Amino acid sequence: MTRGRRGAWHALFAMRYVWRSLLFCTLMGGALLTPPSAVAAPLWLGSDIPYRVWSDPKGRLSLREAVPEIARHGTLAREVLSRGYTREVVWLRFTLAADAFDGAPLWLEIKPNFLDDIRVYYRPLSEDGSWRQRRVGDTFAAPRGDLDYRFPILKMPPPPSALGYEVVMRVATTSSLLLRIGFWQPEDFTAHATRSSAYYAFYFGLAGLSTLLALVLAILLRNRLLWSVAFMAIPYAMMASIEGFVAWSLPGAGILFQHYLISVLALLMSASLLWMPVEAIALRERVPWLYRLFVGACCLSLPLMLSIPLGFYSQAIRLQTTLHFGIGLLFLIYCLRVWIKERFRTLSFALSVGPFVVTALTLYGLLVLAGWVPFKIVFYRAWQYSLVINMLLVMGVAVYQVRQQYREAREKKLLARDLRIEREASFNQRQFMGMVAHEFRTPLAVIAGCLENLRHATDLAQARQRYARIERANDRLVQLTDNCLVDARLDAENLHLDLRPADLLEIVHSAVALIHFSDNHACQLDLDRSARVEAQADGLYDEPPWIDAALMRIALSNVIDNAVKYSAGGIIRVECRRVGTSFTLAVEDHGEGIPADRVDIIFERYRRVDSAIDTRRGFGLGLHVSRQIARAHGGELVLARNTASGCRFVFTIPWNATKGGRA
Ligand code: ADP
Repeated sequence: MTRGRRGAWHALFAMRYVWRSLLFCTLMGGALLTPPSAVAAPLWLGSDIPYRVWSDPKGRLSLREAVPEIARHGTLAREVLSRGYTREVVWLRFTLAADAFDGAPLWLEIKPNFLDDIRVYYRPLSEDGSWRQRRVGDTFAAPRGDLDYRFPILKMPPPPSALGYEVVMRVATTSSLLLRIGFWQPEDFTAHATRSSAYYAFYFGLAGLSTLLALVLAILLRNRLLWSVAFMAIPYAMMASIEGFVAWSLPGAGILFQHYLISVLALLMSASLLWMPVEAIALRERVPWLYRLFVGACCLSLPLMLSIPLGFYSQAIRLQTTLHFGIGLLFLIYCLRVWIKERFRTLSFALSVGPFVVTALTLYGLLVLAGWVPFKIVFYRAWQYSLVINMLLVMGVAVYQVRQQYREAREKKLLARDLRIEREASFNQRQFMGMVAHEFRTPLAVIAGCLENLRHATDLAQARQRYARIERANDRLVQLTDNCLVDARLDAENLHLDLRPADLLEIVHSAVALIHFSDNHACQLDLDRSARVEAQADGLYDEPPWIDAALMRIALSNVIDNAVKYSAGGIIRVECRRVGTSFTLAVEDHGEGIPADRVDIIFERYRRVDSAIDTRRGFGLGLHVSRQIARAHGGELVLARNTASGCRFVFTIPWNATKGGRA
């Protein structure tokens, strides 16, 4: 683990208190600060005060011309005005009864903050007197209404007559047309405004801290999911602008700044709101085409920025919204599919459920902005809360995931280290065995020579027998040391084949001569004479096979030795044949064969069929070494037949071993 990475984890653990406090604050805040709109209710235009509404497509009519049109063609509405992305000018007409005033002025709160131009005309009812006009909107740097507040507030004095006021409004905007107007009693508004601002101060404080935390974690842990969480700052900035905090905290040109900021952020919102869901479900790996579509939509938002100065913003935002809606919908469908497929597996479900809820609520919001479904404040609040909760949830799961990955990586590293040590140890062990075997080899050869001499020098039958036994024991040791030596050389990958033209039949004879057949065994040689070069009539091979005779002898003698060892008696048949461009050496016995489930292991180093019950001498090295020798020549050794009445092992070696083997 690098020092930087370790530092990151320490910092992370130090921050776990920040985590808990944030979670605690969210829950407590949610409980204490009930949504402000539920506390003191104003009279809402629509649900409390119905209105007639009429659209002027060209937007050229004056107040005098518009009033009769509204009366004639207008429709009655009882809900929040929502017309989607329209360039039409919308006229509204309603009456405000004197009762609503209760003898005091009424305060008109006009929301949201992205409407360009709103004109309010009013005059006492049934008087044809002159209209009083007020004008507010995002594109006016002029003072917004009569109060220094986040939204335009217009104070309407109590009407002079008991009939109330006739009110006409003209609304024009370049973005979505959504109009929420509340008529407040002054004291109620003050209480509401205090509470609402406190709520948002808490909310944005929490959002800011969460974003900061996500940013720090993303930098420390270098995790894409955490970066996507940090980019949720964009919707928060957007919300702060829509709620009027930007203009409120920047008196002067703040309103215009806020207006353009809303346009810019609206174009960036899609990318930021979709990024986290995309990362949470690992869309890049799972559905690359959808991921590419998402990246395309993100990239598109940059050139679309030009629409703000060039005046085609409403078309640009419409295109962006459509793409966002499509990708969001596909994400929701895909999410459901993954959950069902993975049977709601805890971690992946926990990671994507938050983004799922946020995306679903965002899609609802997009439909509201498009004017297709009515605005409901409860969904807006749910969206606000789901953003923060989701952020904390995803952050928690992401950190958990990173921690898990780190643990796994550490375990893997430890395992790899253990394996390396183990390999090194066994390599050194074999090298040592090879060295010892090498040291044994010369004295054993001397002993063998002396025994041969002694056997011939004595006439005593008993002594000859003893010498023969010592010789067999000595040969056994020679075979073992040879195998150990070859194994060590093979393992060190520096096996050098001493390839020379060799007489195959000679090799077979010498290998057989190395083996001591018991009285129950007989050796039968079946040698294809054509394997001998001189005997060739067809001229196929103009030279004898090139092989390492010493190694080939060891390989063959191992297999013949096994045939004797693992059969109680009978004929051991050794064959040598020429087959195409190869030759084969086969050894057949009449033993009990090898259990089918053990066939795979007999060629592995130090593996025997059942070393616990098999009392016959052996180390499980012979077949392994023989096969390695065959392979070094570019050939193979296989168990060609395995029945309850015997085995047949076959070497197949290319005639010209230099082509396949390591020389
Ligand atoms: P070992 O030194 O044990 O003989 P080998 O690598 O030569 O080692 O053989 C591996 C195992 O394969 C042996 O332990 C034996 O159980 C089995 N085996 C090898 N050749 C035969 C055979 N001809 N008949 C039955 N079993 C055999």
